[in-house]
Amino acid sequence: MKQDVIIIGAGVIGLATAEQLLLQGVKVTLIERNEIGLESSWAGGGILSPLCPWDYSDDVNRLSHYSAQLFPQWTSNLYKASGIDPEYLISGMKILSFVDKKIIENWCLQYPTKIKYLATSHTDTHLNKKHYPGYRDQENNSSILMPDIAQVRNPRLLKSLHIRVLQLGGKIIENCVVNQINIRNHNVHSLTTAQGQIFADYYVVSAGAWSKALLGPHALGIEIKPIKGQMLLFKFNEPPITNIMIKDNVYMIPRQDGHLLVGSTIEDVGFNKEITITARNTLMKKAREILPLLDKMPIIKQWAGLRPATKKNSPYIGRHSTLSNLFMNAGHFRYGIVMAPASAEILANEITNHSQKIDISPYQPGSAFRTELQ
Ligand SMILES: Cc1cc2nc3c(=O)[nH]c(=O)nc-3n(C[C@H](O)[C@H](O)[C@H](O)COP(=O)(O)OP(=O)(O)OC[C@H]3O[C@@H](n4cnc5c(N)ncnc54)[C@H](O)[C@@H]3O)c2cc1C
Repeated sequence: MKQDVIIIGAGVIGLATAEQLLLQGVKVTLIERNEIGLESSWAGGGILSPLCPWDYSDDVNRLSHYSAQLFPQWTSNLYKASGIDPEYLISGMKILSFVDKKIIENWCLQYPTKIKYLATSHTDTHLNKKHYPGYRDQENNSSILMPDIAQVRNPRLLKSLHIRVLQLGGKIIENCVVNQINIRNHNVHSLTTAQGQIFADYYVVSAGAWSKALLGPHALGIEIKPIKGQMLLFKFNEPPITNIMIKDNVYMIPRQDGHLLVGSTIEDVGFNKEITITARNTLMKKAREILPLLDKMPIIKQWAGLRPATKKNSPYIGRHSTLSNLFMNAGHFRYGIVMAPASAEILANEITNHSQKIDISPYQPGSAFRTELQ
């Protein structure tokens, strides 16, 4: 079998990249070790912004800000084509921890975003008090609301992408691990997979936290490692809050059908997805401070996912520094959902030689290799 492009890994990044390439007329095959979309992309919360964006580098902000703007059109097209609603929702994000107005105002000059500083009484309007009298307002007026921040529902986004890729003529091979990348003359010659050798003109590594291991000796300066995140799920009859809420790095995401996600831990424990009581207790303790009523609610599910973290704290998107037909789209750490459509657009433009809409130099894998050599 020979394809134009083979993409290794069918999380949100691999699927979105496949969709973009297919839309540009490229023949694409996705190879996934398990079933599609069951790793980090399934586990994530779906907030379409870094948590407190001013705490992050320009490389993270530039890409996530640009990408978030692609979501309304992208998800609406996906919904129309697939019949599955990714539940794009502008729910607003409220930050309940102390914030420094100066830092935020400086950040807003660069990344124009609506911000509302909230007096204590305003916080009431974001809670259905009739049903949840235990809610405790914040004791000061340092909370802010970013009313335009949106969310998606990851499993639904993944389902709609899956259907869309098939509709556009993409091939998806599931339960097929790629064991080795075979090189000949500074090019990828083939992949050794559980189903034999596979060939293409171009190859894309979008294997999330496993990308470095897959590259083996060809990882060069590319540093990607798993960082575990655990989440809790609750179910209310109706959403107990309307905004995404963040306090001291713990967040709550209300879904429209009453599900409430609480996340997430940040654990550097290797390729280990075990859920723990310690994580549950830590998340519960902080979540109760925002919504004391959670004490009375059963946790209906707890899970963990492995975020693909990089040393430089932003993803690798572009051509490999020494293998000319190999491309990377990996290392999106805590922002892979929000960055997905822009990352896919950038990589597809790289492969098909189209111009880019933003400066992509910070994301080029070659820059990691050059830095290491200096
Ligand atoms: C708890 C948690 C909360 C998060 N919250 C948010 C959020 O609110 N907003 C946001 O933007 N981001 C969030 N993220 C981050 C986001 O989910 C990730 O950055 C994103 O899912 C990464 O997507 P991916 O496709 O690169 O990786 P993955 O989804 O992990 O996909 C990689 C795929 O590659 C496959 N694979 C690996 N090795 C091989 C191989 N050798 N052969 C074949 N296939 C292989 C894997 O099976 C997997 O399916 C969160 C993550 C976690 C864990």
